[in-house]
Amino acid sequence: MSIINHKECPLCGSNNIAELFSFRDKTVTDNNFPIWSCNKCLFAFTQDVEDEDNCGKYYKSEEYISHSNTNQGLKNKLYHFARSIMLNRKYRFVHKANNNVKGSVLDYGCGTGFFPAKMNQKGWQAKGIEQDADARTFAKNNLKVDAYDKDYLDNINQSEFDVVTMWHVMEHIYNPDIFLKKINAILKKGGKFIVAVPNFESYDAKIYKEFWAAIDAPRHIWHFTTDTAKAMIEREGFRLEQTDFLPFDSFYISLLSEQLKTGKTNWFKGLSNGFKGYLKSRKDHKNGSSIVLTFSKI
Ligand SMILES: [Zn+2]
Repeated sequence: MSIINHKECPLCGSNNIAELFSFRDKTVTDNNFPIWSCNKCLFAFTQDVEDEDNCGKYYKSEEYISHSNTNQGLKNKLYHFARSIMLNRKYRFVHKANNNVKGSVLDYGCGTGFFPAKMNQKGWQAKGIEQDADARTFAKNNLKVDAYDKDYLDNINQSEFDVVTMWHVMEHIYNPDIFLKKINAILKKGGKFIVAVPNFESYDAKIYKEFWAAIDAPRHIWHFTTDTAKAMIEREGFRLEQTDFLPFDSFYISLLSEQLKTGKTNWFKGLSNGFKGYLKSRKDHKNGSSIVLTFSKI
């Protein structure tokens, strides 16, 4: 059995679950994937995905690396500009969460390593974990980042890190309860766990519904909101302390969603929806296309 079919809500165990719609994956598989949610706790998840040992075929796109290497084209130029602002913002965010003291950070799912490199540059001790071998090699060779395979998580000493970050990774994690216990163990008492995820109740998610690009099934197996992420993470020994949002994501995701919905790059509509989402997120983080949740280990 390699397909995972949930008969109960993976978060609360209720059997009152139903299909919302199906998402067409145009990035890799060109297949439809059913998105289900729980009527009791409102947790949403992708139904019928391949299990962890067989999900590699969902990740055959080369976009992850190519973004890092090329500065060609308007989209890539914008991406590089946004990334540089975001790296600074993430650094300040993590530094502040650690009471403005330099410390040690593990970036789980570090990709090509730009965030741990930024933290090292600012005087932190940063390590990364990344399961994609090409991305890991890029991080090591080009950015001199200590980047490890995911098995490394089992070899880390207890209470080793001040902070663990996961920027858009939690939505990919199989068996999150086991995983979160490991993250809890490697953090110092009072250490921070900072998690950014796409927000399934965001302004742009509500506009684009089954065309909302951040669903990104079947690679994303969970579709979080602030409340469902809080419920999943708090029960493994954390307490939610702060919520925030990532300002560029509403623009980027709205543009991608316009492309999915209409087949065209609809700059005006994508950017105007992105801007509306951005303004609404400033009033209430629950409108944010991506949310950033800071937990303390208790
Ligand atoms: Zn539920």
